[in-house]
Amino acid sequence: MLFMQSISLLQIAPTLADFFGVHLNSQARSVEQILEFAYSRNPQVVVLVVIDSLDYRFYTDFAEELKGIHELVEQDGFLFECETVSSHTTPAIASILTGLRPESHGIFANNDVGKSKIKSILEILEDEGKPTAAAIETKGAKPLLGRISYVFAVDDREDIIAYDKLITTHTISVLNKQDLRLVFSHLRAIDRFAHRGNDLRVAAKAINENVRAIAKAVSERNGLLVICGDHETHGRDKDKKYGKAPAAVPLIVCCP
Ligand SMILES: [Zn+2]
Repeated sequence: MLFMQSISLLQIAPTLADFFGVHLNSQARSVEQILEFAYSRNPQVVVLVVIDSLDYRFYTDFAEELKGIHELVEQDGFLFECETVSSHTTPAIASILTGLRPESHGIFANNDVGKSKIKSILEILEDEGKPTAAAIETKGAKPLLGRISYVFAVDDREDIIAYDKLITTHTISVLNKQDLRLVFSHLRAIDRFAHRGNDLRVAAKAINENVRAIAKAVSERNGLLVICGDHETHGRDKDKKYGKAPAAVPLIVCCP
């Protein structure tokens, strides 16, 4: 099901906070349809996967390569067109995890991450006794060490397909922890391929396989899977198809 109502990436963290019954400081409202869906399925764990550079146009243009993700929407899920808040990864992900605009959270570069006093939804849940996990790049992971229960740091590398495989493996393995409530992971192949001008179909297929593997593990735990992009696909906007409209990314919520 596609909801035409446009929402923003800022609404993800407030929605998760409401679902788990914890307090988060954000001006953004939670998304009623997501809450209703989540309450009705009563998932034991939520997995949030951010797919770097997956924008709405990429999602539709590469529907064939991303078939597994489209099927998650068709089977038991829904899709929102979601407004972005930044065209860069670090501030966009910080906004997804805090519900705050970049100018409010102040996290623009990797070395801002550790300095920020603002807590992400991962840390807020952890502080309320609800264990959380993250599978992300080492620089982003370091500030979370000792702050949340399970941190999987993956070093950046030339082979981004291998990198995403490791992120996927960690995401699946941590789902064995029965006390876990929220997992965050970040897949990067599309972004790297777009920057290098490499064949985006290869990246899309790899992402599709990783998401399918994660979805299977989520299904075995009766979990809720949330998938979104972080910003527009770099290097593909030269034809000005978007005009001046803000870029949109897909937000998928499903019970695989
Ligand atoms: Zn990005």
